[in-house]
Amino acid sequence: MWRNIRIAILLLFLGIAAYSNWYDRLSTTDWDETLYIGVFPIDDSDNEVAHDYIARLTPDRIADIEQFLNREARRYGITISRPVRVDLYPPVVEKPPERASGAGALQNMWGSLKLRMYARRAVRESGMPPPQIRIFVRYHDPSFTKSVPHSVGMQKGLVGVVHAFADRSMTRTNNVVIAHEILHTLGASDKYDPETLMPLFPVGYAEPELDPLHPQTLAEVMAGRYAIDSRTFEMPATLDEVLVGAATALEIGWTHP
Ligand SMILES: [Zn+2]
Repeated sequence: MWRNIRIAILLLFLGIAAYSNWYDRLSTTDWDETLYIGVFPIDDSDNEVAHDYIARLTPDRIADIEQFLNREARRYGITISRPVRVDLYPPVVEKPPERASGAGALQNMWGSLKLRMYARRAVRESGMPPPQIRIFVRYHDPSFTKSVPHSVGMQKGLVGVVHAFADRSMTRTNNVVIAHEILHTLGASDKYDPETLMPLFPVGYAEPELDPLHPQTLAEVMAGRYAIDSRTFEMPATLDEVLVGAATALEIGWTHP
């Protein structure tokens, strides 16, 4: 009898999780009303540089993320006046839970649950209305951290964790990464080769129709880089050099098969 009750409870939880994932996916990719996205800065270095950078962050520093997403949505025929709205939230003191590396399915589930609970706490403490998508940006001091861990964006839970640099000259490049992770939360997949980081052809090319094909000068957002020739590639400096490709537009519901 206890065994049956335990199984029933487990099934109930799995059912709730499946329903909320289904509902989240539906409500974030139907594009019939504005999608609210919150950017939460986090001082990752615990020093003056990162602290000052975050203290000086103003909404206009992240404004190009919303401009980019809305410009591209319009290009794909989304007609509502403001498809996404990206707001800057107050800094979060608590750091997101670390992801266990090489973890199994159960640990992954536990990790994602911890991240969701963390995101709820952060939103509650901000005192602002809860956004549908929550992106936590961990700012590192570039003089201590030369390379940062991988950023992630999860469609299940609608949460992203971005690693970025606390440097004025990096602000617009950070925004390219933030836009990439936002699109992961909407169901977009990566479009580069994980071994070589080369953009995949044709899906990872902003302009796969160009003739000659190289050099490309714009990057597909989920490829993150553009190909100069078949072996070399470059990162875009700003979102002005980035497009949402046809495959990504299909994945996030801007177009339909
Ligand atoms: Zn990615």
